Amino acid sequence: MIPGSFEYFSPRSLADAVKYLADHRDDVKILSGGQSLLPLMKMRLSKPAYVVDIGRIPGLAAISELDDSLIVGALVTHEQIESSELLKAKCPLMPQTATTIADVQVRNRGTIGGSIAHADPAGDWPAAVIALDAEIRVFGPSGERWVKCDDFFLGLLMSVLEPDEIVTGIKFPVTGGDKTAYQKAAPRSSGFAVTGVAVRLGMDSTGTCTRAAIGITGVADKAYRPERTEQMLTGKKLDATTIEQAAAESTRNIEVIEDINGSSEYRAHLTHVYVARAIQEALNR
Ligand SMILES: Cc1cc2nc3c(=O)[nH]c(=O)nc-3n(C[C@H](O)[C@H](O)[C@H](O)COP(=O)(O)OP(=O)(O)OC[C@H]3O[C@@H](n4cnc5c(N)ncnc54)[C@H](O)[C@@H]3O)c2cc1C
Repeated sequence: MIPGSFEYFSPRSLADAVKYLADHRDDVKILSGGQSLLPLMKMRLSKPAYVVDIGRIPGLAAISELDDSLIVGALVTHEQIESSELLKAKCPLMPQTATTIADVQVRNRGTIGGSIAHADPAGDWPAAVIALDAEIRVFGPSGERWVKCDDFFLGLLMSVLEPDEIVTGIKFPVTGGDKTAYQKAAPRSSGFAVTGVAVRLGMDSTGTCTRAAIGITGVADKAYRPERTEQMLTGKKLDATTIEQAAAESTRNIEVIEDINGSSEYRAHLTHVYVARAIQEALNR
């Protein structure tokens, strides 16, 4: 399990990293936590001739608050998110999601930027960022741009990122009084979602849902937003029947995958159950 040979570059600035990426754009990979890239390189499923380790670029490993938004730097690890007091107070969906990722070794090394950029269809962060209506900050040869999470993921391990662009951070709102939850069904061996559901509900004082946002992972070739389910919850009192009916629509128009973890029928059923559970858990908080 030894990777092929490659040239290693460890820049100290984003500009140097992007220049190196642009110079080698056909055969280069960014290294963050290495928890997805290194296994692929060791199995020779990925054989980049050039590797840019962005771990020493300053300013990418902080969690900060700006007005009503929170910004998590791309190099922030799953563990930092899990233990952040700021996020526990201002956006508990993030720490809750982090606790479900893999094991402590992976959480200590793996980063949110790497996970988002990798666009694994069973990764947990894509579901959470969709439920939070997050924006992804990207830096490339033309400077900085922000991409809405709904536009970011294109398919299996594919995103809108160009080979010479770097994810530098993720911005999402303080969730305040909104009710949130993350529910995931996953085999113990990997922790990767067979279905993973992130929910954010705005509720008014009469118990009516004013806004529903849901992200689902593990079910299709990319994480997605079940728009029909969101619509069926919005403007309603969330009794058991409403929740069940809305959850049953959560795989509508989705090509549900099948693999060693289950058939597409099983996965769709599991998703309906987990959407209902996640809504109920959020309401109970
Ligand atoms: C045993 C095991 C179990 C796991 N279980 C889970 C799980 O339950 N849930 C889950 O969500 N994940 C899981 N993972 C994946 C883990 O969360 C990784 O941390 C994550 O997928 C990638 O983050 P990374 O920082 O390690 O990225 P890397 O492995 O360094 O990079 C991954 C890919 O993204 C690119 N990349 C990295 N950073 C950037 C950036 N800032 N900008 C642009 N491109 C970039 C790389 O070039 C590479 O193609 C597991 C991994 C392992 C090894």
